[in-house]
Amino acid sequence: MSTVEFDHVGEWNAQVPLLIIGAGAAGLCAALAAKAAGVDAVVIERDAVPSGSTALSAGLIPAAGTRFQRAKGIVDSPDRLVADIQRKARGEAPPALVEAIARGSAPLIEWLAERHALPFELIENFNYPGHCALRMHGLPSRTGRELIDRLRNAAELSEIVVLTGCIAKTLFAQKNGRVGGIEIARGNGSRERIGCNALILACNGYGSNSELIRRFIPEMADALYFGHPGNRGDAVLWGERLDAELACLGAYQGHGSIATPHNILITWAVIMEGGFQVNAQGRRFCDETCGYSEQAAEVLRQPSGIAWDIFDGRIAVVARQFEDFRAAERAGAMLVADSVNGLAARMRVPADSFAEEWRNVEVLKTRGAVDRYGRRFSAEQLLQPPFFAVKVTGALFHSQGGLVIDTTGRVKRKDGSLFPNLFAAGGAAVGISGTTAAGYLSGNGLLTATVLGRLAGQAAAKLISH
Ligand SMILES: Cc1cc2nc3c(=O)[nH]c(=O)nc-3n(C[C@H](O)[C@H](O)[C@H](O)COP(=O)(O)OP(=O)(O)OC[C@H]3O[C@@H](n4cnc5c(N)ncnc54)[C@H](O)[C@@H]3O)c2cc1C
Repeated sequence: MSTVEFDHVGEWNAQVPLLIIGAGAAGLCAALAAKAAGVDAVVIERDAVPSGSTALSAGLIPAAGTRFQRAKGIVDSPDRLVADIQRKARGEAPPALVEAIARGSAPLIEWLAERHALPFELIENFNYPGHCALRMHGLPSRTGRELIDRLRNAAELSEIVVLTGCIAKTLFAQKNGRVGGIEIARGNGSRERIGCNALILACNGYGSNSELIRRFIPEMADALYFGHPGNRGDAVLWGERLDAELACLGAYQGHGSIATPHNILITWAVIMEGGFQVNAQGRRFCDETCGYSEQAAEVLRQPSGIAWDIFDGRIAVVARQFEDFRAAERAGAMLVADSVNGLAARMRVPADSFAEEWRNVEVLKTRGAVDRYGRRFSAEQLLQPPFFAVKVTGALFHSQGGLVIDTTGRVKRKDGSLFPNLFAAGGAAVGISGTTAAGYLSGNGLLTATVLGRLAGQAAAKLISH
């Protein structure tokens, strides 16, 4: 149970300048940034090997105005990224924070590439919904496992101490909100108290805490949770006890394309490249290109809470750059046929309604027209045999609400004033996706984790050094 103890007067087992809770993308970027600014951080991580939701992701980070984009002739700017984030969030994302994150995105990618040798590439063969430019940057394997392993390696080379197998339990604070340190529990049951000059909460959100999900996101209370089990909501629970400002607690990142029963993420590229979804009755039910996040609830509202992703061999080639897609193929999740009727038979959906939807989609494509839900189709995306279908469901990836912060990650009190030495980054802090699942623009998760992690690490180091 995570708690806060006020006005602690006992001894510390150790005293360090900067403590960071959580060794995901946010925590490790914060530690690397603090180190670059001359301050040593100790990172506390419950897992034996740093993983977090970061390891479960595709590791794709949006960034605007990078040298990787320029090399490919892509015109982009932080202002355009700000506009895309706010359009998706319906203007509900905190403007100053979005601005700081967008401006920090290209420097973040270039810093990780140049200073820490992360071999980023621009994803060029498809775009995610809502981005006006190609700006997703990924590592060769397109996995979050590679991202977290490379960040951990960078931390090791920088001689950053990561205490694994340790859970931060109690946060010690004075009545004025100044944090003195934390108590950690080790795997063998022993407990230690570590004092610090500043604390960064990088322990993500409350996706795996079913009580908090029931309280804040009831529409996903019974949905599959697809994030990391260690995301227990400690930052929110500590924040509540400290009287910190919390916001957007009902917002979340969902995903409407998890192969079932295999539980493997099927990339949204299958939709963006001209695929579509039908339900168990063979009927389309919405504009799939609005975004994969809100699609989670859409799919769960369909009969039996499932849908089918429909695409073709050309799209499968694009999707195979993702290890998850290849794993789904190996697991037998894909049904393949040379005709529409053959595919309907394999899916066991009514052939007449399925064929009618298919015909409608392909006619709309030839005309470059808009369908009854507002989706625009393109003539370049006609489907050709072999045809593919995979049965999917909707899942909760991570919560988007959290601690309200300033543009350097400093946590705010309810009256808007700042806690003296408490920071939050990544999923521990409020997101930039507004108040609903529909406000999540692809990549908002790792964008805020990495950029804010870096900004919080720099700001905490500055605070400690002065
Ligand atoms: C399947 C999936 C795919 C995704 N794909 C993408 C994508 O391609 N692009 C994108 O932008 N976003 C994606 N996301 C979202 C993205 O993964 C997260 O937004 C991001 O990883 C959050 O980083 P973080 O550092 O805040 O949290 P995490 O990576 O979850 O790290 C938090 C760490 O804190 C540790 N921790 C928690 N509490 C404690 C405690 N009390 N004591 C000690 N340690 C603790 C946890 O064990 C964990 O290691 C995806 C998410 C999922 C689930």
